[in-house]
Amino acid sequence: MTAPVPKPYVMAIAPYVPGRSTTDDGRKVAKLSSNENPLGTSPAARTAFADAAGNLERYPDAGATIVREAIAAKHDLDPARIIYGNGSDEVLHLAAGAFAGEGDEVIFVRYGFAVYEIAARRVGAVPVVAPDDDYATDVDAVLACVTDKTRIVYIANPNNPTGTFAPREEIARLHAGLRSDILLVLDQAYAEYIDAGSDDGGMEMAKSADNVLVTRTFSKIHGLAAERIGWGYASAPIIEAMHRIRLPFSITIAGQHAAVAALGDTAFVDHTRDHNARWRAWFADEMSKLGNAGLRPIPSEANFVLVIFEGALTAEQAYHGLMDKGFIVRWLPGQGLAQGLRITIGTEEETRGVVQALRELAGTD
Ligand SMILES: *Cc1c(COP(=O)(O)O)cnc(C)c1O
Repeated sequence: MTAPVPKPYVMAIAPYVPGRSTTDDGRKVAKLSSNENPLGTSPAARTAFADAAGNLERYPDAGATIVREAIAAKHDLDPARIIYGNGSDEVLHLAAGAFAGEGDEVIFVRYGFAVYEIAARRVGAVPVVAPDDDYATDVDAVLACVTDKTRIVYIANPNNPTGTFAPREEIARLHAGLRSDILLVLDQAYAEYIDAGSDDGGMEMAKSADNVLVTRTFSKIHGLAAERIGWGYASAPIIEAMHRIRLPFSITIAGQHAAVAALGDTAFVDHTRDHNARWRAWFADEMSKLGNAGLRPIPSEANFVLVIFEGALTAEQAYHGLMDKGFIVRWLPGQGLAQGLRITIGTEEETRGVVQALRELAGTD
């Protein structure tokens, strides 16, 4: 008698490792490891969430109608072409589930978002890793990876964990270089942190092209990570295919109401963007001043900065040293990034605190 045998391609998946919220010895500390909103959640979204508690016996609207309509109004989109899911993570998985399978290839960049590899392997597809250009997305390298078997290219822009941003012309060049039967997934989890007018043009592309899926999330700037609400926009046939395999009730009632309220609270979003821009610039500047000690911030357009450690103080030492001092950041040796720490921009106090702690660890203070 043998036990059930998992698929070999499932057993080839390295499980996702989430950002931690406690230290090795269980202390609760400043969590700068998951790119959450340090300013919390829109008060309007909190109220909408609480109000939804009156209807817990009912299934949520499987069509997430209020969410799709609010998103469509905000971004000038066709509500029928909006897919949604349990976080944009689910939407990323739906793309792989609908468009890739055994024998197919799925491309993403080295130092890319961990979910792409899991999504590709889960359906039996082969992950193909494009080399980076000093941690940034290299469009030519991505295009050089394309073969007859390529079905999907995943690009996060800004990218996580690097924070780097490929401008509109580069994204257009990438799209122009791909065959029309290859799905280009542009993961815009951090798009709201980009200044108006400097976006990567992905949403406009998704409106007109037949092979572009843009994904967005309420987890980052909207501060609703706990509720798991993500969405995507693409051509009607792409969305229709993804709907066939989506979980029927993937967004909760409270999540749907909170998302609608969050979209309406532009003041909260603007305040968060301003806070992030100010403290990200200050943080990066302070890291550059530690260049003598081998610290190097990678230019970021997101709500975190990847700091590379090229001197005596290693990223691993800094990771444990910061934990001792009460700051949890992200060290990603499992993603080939043993030389860096990804640090979320926190409150002013947290940001000043983590900089001071790094100065001490680097021996410059
Ligand atoms: C955080 C993040 C997401 C998604 O998060 P959800 O909470 O599942 O919406 C997607 N892509 C990138 C690059 C991210 O950093």
